[in-house]
Amino acid sequence: MAFPAPSTLSPSKVSSFKDCALAFRFSAIDQLPEAPSIPATKGTLVHLALEYLFDREPHDRSLDTALTDLARALEAMRDDPEFRALELDAEAEAGFLADADGLVRRYFEVEDPSTIVPVGLELKLEARIDDIRIRGIIDRLELDEDGGLVVTDYKTGRSPTVNYQQGRLGGVSFYALLCQELFGVLPTKVKLLYLGDGLTITTEPTEQSIRALKAKLRALWHAIELACEKEDFRPRPGPLCNWCSFRAYCPAQGGDLALAAQFVAQRDAEKLAAAEQADADQAAVA
Ligand code: SF4
Repeated sequence: MAFPAPSTLSPSKVSSFKDCALAFRFSAIDQLPEAPSIPATKGTLVHLALEYLFDREPHDRSLDTALTDLARALEAMRDDPEFRALELDAEAEAGFLADADGLVRRYFEVEDPSTIVPVGLELKLEARIDDIRIRGIIDRLELDEDGGLVVTDYKTGRSPTVNYQQGRLGGVSFYALLCQELFGVLPTKVKLLYLGDGLTITTEPTEQSIRALKAKLRALWHAIELACEKEDFRPRPGPLCNWCSFRAYCPAQGGDLALAAQFVAQRDAEKLAAAEQADADQAAVA
């Protein structure tokens, strides 16, 4: 029995499939739960604080207000399952917040937010390339001094080495493609702001680069469909294994692939039983 292909393609799924096809399967197809991650949750917190900051009038976007927004974002996230799953004690939470505070302060070394003209924050976009549904969330869409669109993506880690920069820019070019498909306008620039070390990487998308990206996405989608059809997702051990949530299932790490299938079968059976019970309850009330 073939695996079902995922319903959409996003920048994170693209890089996941390229990094390790088996991890992609566990995440995008089996949808196995992933361990909570302090860096990822810190990233979510800082993104939310910057979203609040850009909701303010330009003259009100100061470091003081940004730190107020960080505190507000933390309160908003307290009940979030992602944050609660970290189970931080008081000392760990203080360290977590100090790191986030440092990232917000570094943001102010990278650019002056009062000069930015945002036209969209945390924009959820979806478009179709042939039969592929592509989707992504743009952290910030803004206008440059000539009225051109600029896509900005915040990264809360450190910037990659030169060898890996093109790969990261491929991810944000995906957002330029979404803008072109949905708004009919190609952004003049896509920017990656690395708050871990204050570096900005910028690229200027062209019609040619977008055509090349579309061709790559078609080829990648074909490879995913083929892997689903053949049930052939191979592990690709590398440095990312150290942070992989799926080691217990990964044969390359001594894990047991059958455990993943068992987990999925049990979860699907529980879902089915819950749906049948809900139908029975509804019928009894009627
Ligand atoms: S542990 Fe490594 S090889 Fe195995 S699924 Fe995760 S990333 Fe892939």
